[in-house]
Amino acid sequence: MYAVISDIHGNLEALEAVLRDVPDGTERIYCLGDVIGYGANPNECCNLVRSFEMPAISGNHDLAVTDLSTDLAWFNPVAATAIEWTRQQLTEENTHFLRTLLRIMQEEETLFVHGSVRDPDEYIVNAAVAQENLAVLKKEYPDVQVCFFGHTHVKAISPSPNGPITGSETLDLTSGGPYLVNPGSVGQPRDGDTFASYVVVEDAPYGVRVAYRFVEYDVAKAQAKIRAAGLPAMLADRLAYGR
Ligand code: ZN
Repeated sequence: MYAVISDIHGNLEALEAVLRDVPDGTERIYCLGDVIGYGANPNECCNLVRSFEMPAISGNHDLAVTDLSTDLAWFNPVAATAIEWTRQQLTEENTHFLRTLLRIMQEEETLFVHGSVRDPDEYIVNAAVAQENLAVLKKEYPDVQVCFFGHTHVKAISPSPNGPITGSETLDLTSGGPYLVNPGSVGQPRDGDTFASYVVVEDAPYGVRVAYRFVEYDVAKAQAKIRAAGLPAMLADRLAYGR
């Protein structure tokens, strides 16, 4: 049994709540990137990812913060401000840690990416993009049964076994694959939910069983820290409505 988390974005309250929620017997916690950016505790979040020895890949924010040559014009002004603030905060050790992460990780029949199979910066935002990436997955990674992805901060599975992910649920992905699975975001959900989400995965005959876990955390505390840090207020506000 293992867990997969994504898009922590410096939200320590959400990450700590998720780590408390991870069931006993979980052997590993995989991290799909964007440990930092937006939230007020980039170092603390990096330290936790490191101390749990999470196999991790980098997200676009991890790289934008740690690569000073990144053209911030690619980011919206609020994100760019957060990236610049995070650059000031991040220790040299954590900068090095994020800078040297892989962009894609494979373990036997499982693939881990930040954005999509074909491009770590691509957003899988609809069924058409998912279909294109499933085709790439089948062609380039014929052994892979499940590919976990993040980046959109939206819980999703494609092909969809039974519609949108609306509540805590367990899904058997044992036929009809391969599947793309987005665990949702720990630190900045954008699907209208205000709780942190992640998945717990167990092997099942001919596939895996994926359980979504939804975790309440102290949103007000995370918001207060963002405001106190002088980060754009919108980054605090959006945590209250999950957008
Ligand atoms: Zn992100």
